[in-house]
Amino acid sequence: MSVVRSTRLLERGGSGFAGLSGVSRGLGFLFAAVFAALFAMGCGGSGESGGSGEAGAVEGTIQATTTTTHITDMVESIGGDEVETTALMGPGVDPHLYEASQGDIGALQEADAIFYNGLFLEGQLNDTLIQVGQEAPTVRVTEAMPEEELLPSGDYEGQNDPHVWFDPELWVTGVDPVVEQLSELKPDAAEDFEQRGEEYRAEAMEAHEYVQERVESIPEDERVLVTSHDAFSYFGEAYGFEVEGLQGLSTETEAGAGDVSALADSLVEEEIPAIFVESSIPRRNVEAVQAAARDQGWDVTIPEQALFADAMGEPGTEAGTYSGMLRANADTIVGGLGG
Ligand SMILES: [Zn+2]
Repeated sequence: MSVVRSTRLLERGGSGFAGLSGVSRGLGFLFAAVFAALFAMGCGGSGESGGSGEAGAVEGTIQATTTTTHITDMVESIGGDEVETTALMGPGVDPHLYEASQGDIGALQEADAIFYNGLFLEGQLNDTLIQVGQEAPTVRVTEAMPEEELLPSGDYEGQNDPHVWFDPELWVTGVDPVVEQLSELKPDAAEDFEQRGEEYRAEAMEAHEYVQERVESIPEDERVLVTSHDAFSYFGEAYGFEVEGLQGLSTETEAGAGDVSALADSLVEEEIPAIFVESSIPRRNVEAVQAAARDQGWDVTIPEQALFADAMGEPGTEAGTYSGMLRANADTIVGGLGG
């Protein structure tokens, strides 16, 4: 049995708390301040991790704290029984809007190592992660990705698009840093981590081939993917799709009436048959676009199954693993676009 216990601390569904954002942002700052104070008092770190971000070997199971579901799945897949993860974000949670809770700060402080995506995906958590990275070994899985393969962020100058997991060949370059970090913490298991890393890579490449085969059934000029937000640019590059999102690269800016009607106009003009919701973003945003297109006499459908973009599916379901998520999305997209 290679079951890894996983604690999902918080599973806040979707966003949609626009009215509360001021309050929760205030709390975020408060937690960050408390967090900084705790470290200043020397209460940080587990004692086993050596401090100053240096890794020392740990006794027993490695305690890893992870951010998004994609990161959690990678760390659990590679870590196997040697690692116990505490995931800050569960299925259905939008990482762009996620803010640190007091429980999160404890989980970060107690971790032997911390794993996160970076490139500002965890927008509200970014400063906290950088701060905690000075105390505990921290891996930003996008760190080793070749700069020239990262897509630019259209919304934020000088930054890159953080949704790298949609290009499997790029995503698996994040495996080595995870293997290296875990091996430093538990040198005896280094070979196992290496082997599981290979398996993870192989499964991802198999799923990549599956997606390639599936999308071939959609004529090239009909490969237009319209979704809740701009998460699919790497997917577009990898599989030859034109992509468009109702919201921008981050969901921090809500879509306005102008965005909805502009997108509806282009759906009508280009006769796009389907648009897709994402599991971590409220459906109503995309439904507003559908209604606006219908007002113009164009019946665009929204497949019942949401795409898994910034969060994967529930554990135990197909989309609950990285490679399964790639497959599930391909099936939904091909089904919706009539391939
Ligand atoms: Zn996103």
